[in-house]
Amino acid sequence: MGVKGRVVAFVLRVDPIACDGFGHCHELAPELVEMDEWGYPIISSEPVASIDAAVLKSARLAVRGCPRQALRLERVKES
Ligand code: SF4
Repeated sequence: MGVKGRVVAFVLRVDPIACDGFGHCHELAPELVEMDEWGYPIISSEPVASIDAAVLKSARLAVRGCPRQALRLERVKES
């Protein structure tokens, strides 16, 4: 039995209006971000487990490195 409300995963989200499509996020988090043919990010909506520290670090780098502040990391809590 886990602690209720504990963060167990995260999802990287993009604001498509704010995004300029230059693709820094793909360079910073290639495990999470693919690019479409115009350079805009394609990000899976599947949660990634928080214990995957390397991917979480990449996601945080992408959020910090986005010049348009178009990325955010949503926490998924245990229900
Ligand atoms: S780094 Fe930010 S602005 Fe650039 S493509 Fe990615 S989400 Fe869009």
